[in-house]
Amino acid sequence: MISREVQLKQRPAGMPSADDFTIVETEVADPQDNEVQVVNVCMSVDPYMRGRMVDRKSYTPPFRLGETLTGGAIGQVAASRAAGIREGDYVQSNFGWREAFTAPADQISPLGKLAAPASAYLGALGMPGMTAYVGLLEVGALADGETVFVSGAAGAVGSIVGQIARLRDCHVIGSAGSAEKIAWLRDELKFDAVFDYHGADILAQLRKSAPDGIDVYFDNVGGDHLEAALFHMRPFGRIALCGAISQYNATEPVPGPVNLTLAIGLGLTLRGFIVNHFNHLAEKFRSDMEGWINSGQIQHRETVFNGIERAPEAFIGLFTGENIGKMIVALD
Ligand code: NDP
Repeated sequence: MISREVQLKQRPAGMPSADDFTIVETEVADPQDNEVQVVNVCMSVDPYMRGRMVDRKSYTPPFRLGETLTGGAIGQVAASRAAGIREGDYVQSNFGWREAFTAPADQISPLGKLAAPASAYLGALGMPGMTAYVGLLEVGALADGETVFVSGAAGAVGSIVGQIARLRDCHVIGSAGSAEKIAWLRDELKFDAVFDYHGADILAQLRKSAPDGIDVYFDNVGGDHLEAALFHMRPFGRIALCGAISQYNATEPVPGPVNLTLAIGLGLTLRGFIVNHFNHLAEKFRSDMEGWINSGQIQHRETVFNGIERAPEAFIGLFTGENIGKMIVALD
């Protein structure tokens, strides 16, 4: 079996471009004892992968040039020599950016009976959904009825954050980057207030949407959004530092918020987190989220690019706002 795979040709400088990637063909080995051969159905592109394209120490090691990239993927078993895993089973792995692979059975996770389309396990039922869940409820320590601001609100994480907050009777404000995204958040997801941040005075928008201030800010963007939120936090408010996508392609050091000292007098908590810090909550997350999705209380939307050759374009699209909901690459 031949697999087409995406490799990093050179490290991106600033905004990634198609020239930074190359597609190679690899022969996929037949499975040996305790191995499975998997054909991927879909794969994820995620903002954190940009950090792995830089040659520096981080919480995950950098990608290496000339090697196939890795990342979340859902596939179906094509051949198995591992006990308990059968042909046709759906499995989750970190062997994304490729059409097929053979791996030891302990490097894949069988999904069991699917409660939603397979791709949902890369989005609302997967890593981004869990990030929203633990970031809002554990890191943000959300209480019912509070006022919540989420940036990147129409993305994979942000759209779930806002909906969970709505389930907790919160007043939810979201920022996003296009009229279509704003309409979706307002009309379908029922956010209480939404604004397009392009050219906007973010602080003025927050003052208008939440006259009494913000209890929890879920930060996906950093930079100007974080600074504006800091100016408008209520005493003892919490800021969940989830991501800072406005800075991932920066080529110069980025200045911090000018108003960080406000955190002192207001008694704010600013706490960074990585979803894996909360792996002990994975089962509870999956059961809660399946329940919310099956009852229609949480909607999940995807933007799908078809074919492995479009994976670099899908990845770059994260930084130009091409996606509404989770960005997925479908692989046939
Ligand atoms: P999204 O689905 O939200 O996709 C990225 C979105 O970011 C784009 O659609 C775009 O939407 C927005 N964006 C891009 N550039 C900018 C910019 N300069 N300023 C403002 N918005 C921008 O991605 P995810 O939901 O997967 O991730 C959201 C955030 O969460 C990221 O920062 C990511 O790194 C972080 N994250 C953190 C995790 C953790 O464990 N801490 C785990 C997973 C994600 P728009 O049109 O609105 O600009």
